[in-house]
Amino acid sequence: MSDSNSEASSGSQQGQAPGDRWDYGDLGEREWNGTGVVGGIAYAPVVRVRRESIEVETDPDPALAAEDAEERREAEKTRLAAAAGAVADRLMARAQSSTGSSSEVLAANAQLARDRGWLKEAGKHVAKGVRAEGAAKLVTEKFVAMFAKLGGRQAERITDLEDINARVLAELLGIPEPGVPEISTHSVLAAADLAPADTAGLDAGSVRAIVTEFGGPTSHTSIIARQLGIPCVVAVAGLGELREGAAVLVDGSTGTIRVGVDPAEAESRARADAELRARAAEWTGPAELADGTPVDLLANVQDGESARRAAQGPAQGIGLFRTELAFLDRPEEPSVDEQAEMYAEVLEAFPGKKVVIRTLDAGSDKPVSFAGLPEEDNPALGVRGLRLDLLDRGLLDRQLDGLAEAAKRLPTGSPVQVMAPMVATVSEAEDFAARCRDRGLSPGIMIEIPAAAVAIDKFLPIVDFVSIGTNDLTQYTMAADRMSPHLATLTDPWQPAVLALVAHVARAAEARAAGGGSRVPVGVCGEAAADPYLAIVLKGFGVTSLSAAAAAVPFVGAKLAEVTEETCAAAAEAALAANSAREAKAAVIALVEGE
Ligand code: PEP
Ligand code: MG
Repeated sequence: MSDSNSEASSGSQQGQAPGDRWDYGDLGEREWNGTGVVGGIAYAPVVRVRRESIEVETDPDPALAAEDAEERREAEKTRLAAAAGAVADRLMARAQSSTGSSSEVLAANAQLARDRGWLKEAGKHVAKGVRAEGAAKLVTEKFVAMFAKLGGRQAERITDLEDINARVLAELLGIPEPGVPEISTHSVLAAADLAPADTAGLDAGSVRAIVTEFGGPTSHTSIIARQLGIPCVVAVAGLGELREGAAVLVDGSTGTIRVGVDPAEAESRARADAELRARAAEWTGPAELADGTPVDLLANVQDGESARRAAQGPAQGIGLFRTELAFLDRPEEPSVDEQAEMYAEVLEAFPGKKVVIRTLDAGSDKPVSFAGLPEEDNPALGVRGLRLDLLDRGLLDRQLDGLAEAAKRLPTGSPVQVMAPMVATVSEAEDFAARCRDRGLSPGIMIEIPAAAVAIDKFLPIVDFVSIGTNDLTQYTMAADRMSPHLATLTDPWQPAVLALVAHVARAAEARAAGGGSRVPVGVCGEAAADPYLAIVLKGFGVTSLSAAAAAVPFVGAKLAEVTEETCAAAAEAALAANSAREAKAAVIALVEGE
């Protein structure tokens, strides 16, 4: 294929069919790859969001810089503040007429437009004689550079800043606000990135897919696309070359975008996908394969409320309660009693069912103020998760006390399953397991560091269960930051090395049981479990439970209901035999869909 983003184009040519890189070009076929953030297939013509850059003067105007022009400079500052205020008011009005995440992101942007720091900095340029337009541009450039340097979530807000700047400039110059063109027929919306103000009014009936060159799984484009259920691919390198009006096939699961595809084939794939979505909408569980094999399909939650919402759907329990997310906005550590209350709320959402609670995974992209996290150059490889014990063992002890207290409030008396994040060594696992057992809690560990996956045989005798965190396992196996929009091809759980590690863990647990040892359940609770095709592969590896965001559960359940254990085993072998993530995905889809 001719994409510039595939492993084949950047490294070894082994395993690549001759002509792979040029044949399609002659036929007018072209493929781009990015990060699929909302699954689903769409086939429709491209509508591009154009953002004409507005040229403004950034050098001081001598008339405004003159010593006796103080009054005019003040008037210029007022003009700038009024323009930013008008933009903020409009964004807020749209926030109030929207719902859910759309409303939240619009309101956050309205706040950004009123940011005092931004206005103060801009005021300093005006004080030197720069006109309001130039001052807005200069200060935005400074903030963009600052956000880019900070990286991660801050970098994902760059689009918001640039969008606000464009709106403020349009307001100052009296020209129409930039945005998405009117869309009334089925279209694929393509953009460098979408700002919240672009996405808030999108109609899922007309916009069949969203593709962007920048952004990441947590950028606003992704959040809104998820909320609207619109298939979405972000971080697509080279997307600027996608022409307006070209018929494009978008696959939000695999992250591929193709033009020049046979229209009949493309339409049939989009139709098959729409049928799966319709089946998912009607699928109510419980999860089982087509041959009746039961599947333990669970939900990932972050607090009592999300647990109760999950309980209204077909999830059979909770495979991952990310406790740190319940604490993100807490300046002080909650008392043991308060913690017990929070944990009990989640346990009570699924009475008598499996609920797996993870101890605090603070650090890296999840800062928790009371965790005493040190300043580090490389926090993803630093003190996070279970490693917080190195600084303060009391934090984990108090959390386990809270969990033991919550367990006592349960009518059933069945042990509460508790797992530790970021376990790398056997002694860490032994210490954690002992502290859980002392309190009557059932201990497990997350397998998300390659060291633990490789040496899994040494961990299995210590704990009651393990759960594979494919998000971090992929990050650390591929040495690729999971938040990086540039490395999306590497941070793909379909990567051969990641699949091999997951299969190794699942098979080690099976082999241990076959050899007379206890059967240690192996769950998967990373995003991999939310991909219906990957779920088939995981089942084929012998994974015993799958846990995904509640919204993904019906898609996974409906897909698993179409395949037998035999197909899962064949899909597992096909995936393991592949030389790249793309090859693995394509082989499994072809096998499952009988192409
Ligand atoms: C994972 O790493 O796959 C996981 C489930 O944990 P988190 O995404 O919270 O780091
Ligand atoms: Mg993790």
